[in-house]
Amino acid sequence: MLKAVIIRASGIVQGVGFRPFIYRLAMRSGVKGYVKNIGGSAVEIHIEGREEDIDRFLKMFNDEKPSVACLEYVQVTEAEIEGYDAFKILESDPYSYRSSIIPPDFSICEDCLREVLDPSSRFYLYPFHSCAYCGPRYSIIEKIPYDRENTSMKDFHLCSKCLGEYHDPENTRRFHAQGISCSECGPKIMLYTRDYQPIYSGYDAIEYGGKLIDEGYIVAVKGIGGFHIAASATLDSALERLRKRKKRPSKPFAVMVLDIETASSLVKLNNEAIELLKSKERPIVLLDIREERRISSLVAPGLKQLGIFLPYTSLHYLLLKNTYDKFAVMTSGNPQGEPMCIDEECARNKLSDFVDYFLVHNRKIINRVDDSVVRFTRGRISILRRGRGYAPLWTTLPLKLKKPVIAFGAMLQSAGAVGFEDKVVLTQYIGDVDEYYCFRDLERYLRLLIENYRVDITSSIVTADMHPRYPSTLLAEEWARRYGTEIYKVQHHWAHIASAMAEHSLNEEVLGIAIDGVGYGLDKTIWGGEVLRVSYNDFERVGHLELQPMPGGDLAVRYPARMLAGILSKKFDQDELVTILAKLKITQKGFMQGEKELRLVLRQIQDSPKTSSTGRILDAASALLGVCFEKTYEGEPAVRLEAVSRKSNEILDVKINYSEKAVLDTTSIILNALDLLIDGVDVGEIAYMIQKTLGYGLGLIASRAAKRRHRYLLLSGGAAVNDYIVEGVEEAIKDTRLMLLLPRKFPVNDGGISLGQVVIAAHLHS
Ligand SMILES: [Zn+2]
Ligand SMILES: [Zn+2]
Repeated sequence: MLKAVIIRASGIVQGVGFRPFIYRLAMRSGVKGYVKNIGGSAVEIHIEGREEDIDRFLKMFNDEKPSVACLEYVQVTEAEIEGYDAFKILESDPYSYRSSIIPPDFSICEDCLREVLDPSSRFYLYPFHSCAYCGPRYSIIEKIPYDRENTSMKDFHLCSKCLGEYHDPENTRRFHAQGISCSECGPKIMLYTRDYQPIYSGYDAIEYGGKLIDEGYIVAVKGIGGFHIAASATLDSALERLRKRKKRPSKPFAVMVLDIETASSLVKLNNEAIELLKSKERPIVLLDIREERRISSLVAPGLKQLGIFLPYTSLHYLLLKNTYDKFAVMTSGNPQGEPMCIDEECARNKLSDFVDYFLVHNRKIINRVDDSVVRFTRGRISILRRGRGYAPLWTTLPLKLKKPVIAFGAMLQSAGAVGFEDKVVLTQYIGDVDEYYCFRDLERYLRLLIENYRVDITSSIVTADMHPRYPSTLLAEEWARRYGTEIYKVQHHWAHIASAMAEHSLNEEVLGIAIDGVGYGLDKTIWGGEVLRVSYNDFERVGHLELQPMPGGDLAVRYPARMLAGILSKKFDQDELVTILAKLKITQKGFMQGEKELRLVLRQIQDSPKTSSTGRILDAASALLGVCFEKTYEGEPAVRLEAVSRKSNEILDVKINYSEKAVLDTTSIILNALDLLIDGVDVGEIAYMIQKTLGYGLGLIASRAAKRRHRYLLLSGGAAVNDYIVEGVEEAIKDTRLMLLLPRKFPVNDGGISLGQVVIAAHLHS
């Protein structure tokens, strides 16, 4: 019996060999009809033929569809038989590109890697090999659609062999693949000395680069989204030099490893971790370091986890293959606080202080894309940094936006966003926008999205954080003035929870726990341990952590012992406190000037700013337990506290004061911990109990605030990656109807804020 169906599928259907794939399926199953792009991010496939051929087509479609297509939906409907006599790829309508997804960068696929390692292949040892299913996209794209002339591959004209394969429909992976090249026609690689004298080119440059790493030299490597700094992960001398030169005393470095086997010799792997490491996104994944540490203790000082990732280009693979260890530190090539370099000029000017050699190529990086960073919290994925592989994919909202929305995010680890119709596109990870070059990048990448998705700024609305001094807020205000648009400033923690709601396609009132370091509150104090009742239209603060003084303001963020002194001063007088802290050796380690400074700090308490921040309580705990006395990178005291934790069956006293709002008494948590410490209880167990108690207390407040209509509790904010806090929340709500949800696709930290800002601003506007 003859039959016809129409398949509509949406996702990344351009530049990933999707239409050629459909064409081949049609040939194999013998059906007739057409495939064409509709609207840029979707295809329409009409097939007709014998019923069994149609079924075969559909089965093959299901089983073999390229994973890089990231299909969002597939819809199959019966259709009229039109009487086609062949199967054709129809030209796409040139005006239908508006909502074409800008594709992210994909790691090299297994087929390409096999060719790179095959001496009989013409791609043998070629560092830039890619095909329809793999290779850079976003990092080399100037504008959509993703066609070669719109990317930095336009500088490289296909040689006759490549051109032949490009036009050959039988060539599965290279037919109409926009990014292909070979050693004859593609980018070239060079090795330079520190003063930029060329020494090797081609594969020799890579081979020698690997040797240099073995010998303890530091090599800047131009990859696909920017520069890395590569160094041996086993030589203390190399890492000492790198840390000193980069002024980065203890922030952990990521390690790139040749393959899963090598990875398993460094960290503990399970199936989820392996799948994530091998995924086309190839993020850095934080995993537990094996007891028999093969890496230098200078790679991730004081931490039990290491960030590892697999090579995502042929270049990286070949470089590691030429090292003795088969793994190496690969950290962002940036001067402290600034964005990673993407061109040679930046590298020469800004990296030559840290590196000894440069391994570079002549393909332009158009867009900076940092490596993504992912960890597991309670066994499930949490995104810490959303860059290469994930950005700038869009998300589909559970609602339609009446006007486009441009969101400027917050301040640290920030990303902006553009919303239109039912889509929100976040920029890649931008960085801390209090730094000038990151700030500039925020505007640049917002404009890139605005131009590519043809958003009219003057008919948009603009949204930013409520914090009056965030550079991103000031920029949003400037845009609002310049383009005459309305501006909505959104409370930080409300945006956190709304972001998680949007990701989970919720459009109903929920309860939220937002826990982080800093967010500007409605009452102008610093919030950061908040229980909220949230919808997109409105929110209510139903509870929070007790307000604690931050003696010396920002100094209390840098030196956690100041927070501890502030909290303990609620119970002890000055002399008692001086005695206790001296006995615990905190006075000497936590205050640069010792007792003199401590007494000064105690006098500052009365006039100091107050905060309900979760981060600051974790800081105080970290100082109390002697884990960390100076924060040299974002979240350090909290990360190290989590690292020393050891499971216990107990938690600490949970005191909640219910008056107008529920307030979790954090002073009693710290005092309780102090007693245990004096009693000689294991530091790791106390650390665990503090974190779990915080989560438990916040969870109790949320469950008390829950009404019958509330089905979900959303947990977000930078501290929502903490295993033990999340465990505490889970335990507190286990007998309620509330279902706990955390962000999975967007960062829990401020990198996810702009998504929440978009949905809230859209609601405030209407
Ligand atoms: Zn490939
Ligand atoms: Zn070629």
